[in-house]
Amino acid sequence: MPAEAKDDAAPKRKSEGITVFLRMRPTKHPSKFYDVGDNEGKGQSLRWDIPPDAVTKDGEYINNTKTQWAFKFDQVLPMDISQAQVFDRVGKHVVQNALDGYNSTVFAYGQTGSGKTFTITGGSERYEDRGIIPRALSMIFQAFRERSDCSWSAHVSYMEIYNEQGFDLLNESSGAKALQDLPRVRMMEDEHGNFHLRNLSMHRATSEEEALNLLFLGDTNRAISETAMNQASSRSHCLFTVFLECRGAGGSDKVRRSKLHLVDLAGSERVHKTKSDGITLNEAKYINTSLFYLEMVIVALNEKNKKARDHIPYRNSMMTSVLRDSLGGNCRTVMIATCSAEKPQTEESISTCRFAQRVALVKNDAVLNEETDPSVTIARLKSEVSTLRAEIGYLKGEAGEGDELTDAERAELHSACEVYVKSRDPDETLRVAPLTLTRIRDCFALLKNMVLQALASQGTGGSTDEQLKATLKERDNEIAILVNMVRQARGGGTAPTPSIASEAKEFSPPSSEKKAEPVRRLDPREQLAEDRARMKHRLPDEVAGVSIYVDDAEVRDDPKRAWLYFREKCRIAHVLEDNKRVLKEKYCEAKACGEKVNATRKAIAYLKQSIEAIRRERAIEGVVNEDDLQKADPEEQRKIDAIAQEKEVYKQNFESLRRLKTEIEHVQKMLESGRKKLQKEYDEWYAHVLRRGHNKQPTNAWATPPASPAQSAVSPTQSSQPKEEDDNEDVRAFYAAKAELEALRAKQ
Ligand code: ADP
Ligand code: MG
Repeated sequence: MPAEAKDDAAPKRKSEGITVFLRMRPTKHPSKFYDVGDNEGKGQSLRWDIPPDAVTKDGEYINNTKTQWAFKFDQVLPMDISQAQVFDRVGKHVVQNALDGYNSTVFAYGQTGSGKTFTITGGSERYEDRGIIPRALSMIFQAFRERSDCSWSAHVSYMEIYNEQGFDLLNESSGAKALQDLPRVRMMEDEHGNFHLRNLSMHRATSEEEALNLLFLGDTNRAISETAMNQASSRSHCLFTVFLECRGAGGSDKVRRSKLHLVDLAGSERVHKTKSDGITLNEAKYINTSLFYLEMVIVALNEKNKKARDHIPYRNSMMTSVLRDSLGGNCRTVMIATCSAEKPQTEESISTCRFAQRVALVKNDAVLNEETDPSVTIARLKSEVSTLRAEIGYLKGEAGEGDELTDAERAELHSACEVYVKSRDPDETLRVAPLTLTRIRDCFALLKNMVLQALASQGTGGSTDEQLKATLKERDNEIAILVNMVRQARGGGTAPTPSIASEAKEFSPPSSEKKAEPVRRLDPREQLAEDRARMKHRLPDEVAGVSIYVDDAEVRDDPKRAWLYFREKCRIAHVLEDNKRVLKEKYCEAKACGEKVNATRKAIAYLKQSIEAIRRERAIEGVVNEDDLQKADPEEQRKIDAIAQEKEVYKQNFESLRRLKTEIEHVQKMLESGRKKLQKEYDEWYAHVLRRGHNKQPTNAWATPPASPAQSAVSPTQSSQPKEEDDNEDVRAFYAAKAELEALRAKQ
């Protein structure tokens, strides 16, 4: 895959700067050191004013030389901004650019914990916390449906760069237990100075669901590289790319290709801030080297603007090589600088702002990536030549009147007329060579017939019966799926969907009668979290934010009560409740839409019947003249208009149904993983609670499971997973599919 191409000869370039947004991560305790204001009508300003004696918690001076800074941004996104609003302000335009054929990039830069991953990928718990990537995918496939005059394709790749090595996150093998198990991506440079990425898989996504599944797969593999410092990896860069292609817009032979990079950079904090040792120090060094080279590229680009230098040192690091187009090249780029407003982070926040200012000065030269598809052009030229030859022959009088056409020739002529009529290209010509008077006459007759048929079919809503039937059949299938989902949500279905049907027992307290579960395979994310927890070797005071010191002995010794107690206190349980609420709302919406779709279908069928009845009546009354039949009477016209309106309502509701279906699947997935997490946290917590309750001097909670009399009756580890077997069908299906794929590959 060509990573970045040199665009020295691109025509009509117009330099434009990188748009820079600042996003402040919400905090309950923001420092009073900064102030947001207008920047003379152009964007916004952020001023820092730090008292000279301000110190951090660690007793360090925040800055003992300069105390005031002023930075300019295109927009400063307020702390309380929702993810939907962020997409509206930042992501939407970027995706639109990519759909229009321009390379586009969004990259998030900031210290670890400032919200880069939250902004780019989103939170993994709440549906409304979806970040730019899933929302971009949704917008892309929505556009594919709306702009159906061209043939679209989307391919996805997802790469992680760690210690200057690229790893393919879209590797489907389930065996990867560490980042090193993922396929390595190599960077190559050809003789023209273009970079290519070898061994990075590209996956075609034909629907939003498929694209989201790829993101899910990549994020699962990404979790492998999590570090103990932060939930998501702070030490690597992640690059999610969508390659878009649009062929034949408006019947032309043009192809547009664009790349949409969505980049989550490594944490920008300095080495002394990371509490690193051994290998981590080495890793930290790499991050800094890589971000250091990014700074060098930006500085060089700033100097290039001033004509002070020419060479830009892209090839010093893999990340800058991959992002070559995005930084000063053929791309429309947006930076989101993420900051924390807390006092101890002030110094890092200021250095993020300072870097953002330099990025804002970089000039990019985005061009429309459009070219002519030679195969389409050749086919068009060939056909033009044969038409022209025929015309010349006709003008020379070579063709004469021509013989009567055979059935096969007439069928051929019919197809040519159909192609001509259906083409949206205003320059399309009718290809009927060899041209003879007979053929011309037949063509006119065929075309007249088509016009008459089209006029007649207007009475049935502008579509032939067959087309309408086919569309209805296709849509019936989709509606059936949704109606089934809704039924299941209400408990009326025969085969319950895992998440909703199991809702009643989802939070059922652990039961002591429950048999031991078979050993369950953990997914990589869980595995990693567990390994990490084991490595800590110390007894925590709380698990998932819930203290393990439970004073009430009744709660401690009764797993039922303990479960209720944990649920009440644990944040994840509340998030799950939220997601369930969202899911219910979406089901209700889907149900309402489904009902509307059905109602409009019935209304259309009824209107069609009454139009036919009117026509029959007119025929019986003696109006049998073909011309009169083409003219609708006023009543018939009203019904035709009503059908058009109903069709519009049908279309809108059907679109909403389709969108809801995708959203429902997404929330279900989140709910599934949330449930697993809650159960796991509960197990961990209850094991500690029991240990505390029966052994006042614990040493290592992870060494052995608690062995108390109470526990021998109720093993929390067993008991709190009463629903795994029922609930995780999706997850098991995912692994089963993976295993199958692997087995198939092994056979090959
Ligand atoms: P980074 O990727 O920069 O290291 P994260 O995106 O992982 O930081 O954010 C750190 C934590 O803060 C995560 O738990 C994340 O969910 C939370 N977080 C970040 N930004 C926001 C936000 N705008 N609103 C709510 N939570 C946020
Ligand atoms: Mg992150």
